[in-house]
Amino acid sequence: MKQISIVSGKGGTGKTTLSGALNFLFQNNTAADCDVDASNLYLLLNPKLKKQYDYYGGKKAFIEQDKCIKCGKCQTLCRFDAIDFINEEFKINEYSCEGCNLCVLKCPVKAIELIDNRAGEYYLSENKKMKVIHGSLEPGEETSGGLVAEIRKKAIEVSKEEKTDYIIIDGAPGMGCPATSSITGVNYVIIVTEPTKSGIHDLKRIIDTTKHFKREFGIVINRFDLNIQNTELIEKFCKDNGIKLLGNISFDETVLKATQKQKSIIEYDSKAKEDIINIFNNLMEEIS
Ligand code: SF4
Ligand code: SF4
Repeated sequence: MKQISIVSGKGGTGKTTLSGALNFLFQNNTAADCDVDASNLYLLLNPKLKKQYDYYGGKKAFIEQDKCIKCGKCQTLCRFDAIDFINEEFKINEYSCEGCNLCVLKCPVKAIELIDNRAGEYYLSENKKMKVIHGSLEPGEETSGGLVAEIRKKAIEVSKEEKTDYIIIDGAPGMGCPATSSITGVNYVIIVTEPTKSGIHDLKRIIDTTKHFKREFGIVINRFDLNIQNTELIEKFCKDNGIKLLGNISFDETVLKATQKQKSIIEYDSKAKEDIINIFNNLMEEIS
């Protein structure tokens, strides 16, 4: 089984449009929506929910009220202002607690312990063509890199069970922990960019990250015809650096229409669909 991750240096480049289309073009594949902060691939693939799993990320303090002698030491020491005194009891504010363990160490009666923090959920869903793994974090939780890792782990498990040949991953955008979690260990990375100055800047950064993890990769320029001059700059950059350009996608209003109807562009005859099929063919040559 091969894992293909579609990423971008920033959000809004059309990464999910391409991911959705590739999930329909590949045969015998599992989909993983690792863009957990904007889980739109799930909307495009429109699967039915089958199973739900708890995601635990990090630890939070918990006070056993039976043991607490209400000395207030923990509240004084906590640098994150995460301990409140409510109704005559010291209580942990789970949104503020960073799980630093200081209160656990300093409580004179050992009334505090760190417990696993339920930080979100991930799901197994299914449409007529494929199984889809996706997830969401609880409000205020920031451990999305861990959730991405959990989604990828489940996708591998499902792919093995279903004997699928590919896992197509809609990766998290940007350069942070969720983005790197979307890249590590995959067989091929597709980097989607756009012909803007900021797009070119972000492209170079995500290329560096992908190279750091020693992953094979290729570039797709989305809406390339909106700025031919910048597209040529990206093409030259790729040529000069020996980087594979998988193809360009035209600006096409059908993409917006398809997205509004929560459908993949692959379901509409359009220029963008032709471009994506061309990219798919180039990709197959790269990974086979
Ligand atoms: S330090 Fe321990 S005993 Fe003191 S208020 Fe906090 S939990 Fe209670
Ligand atoms: S674990 Fe750290 S952050 Fe959380 S309540 Fe205790 S001292 Fe505060």
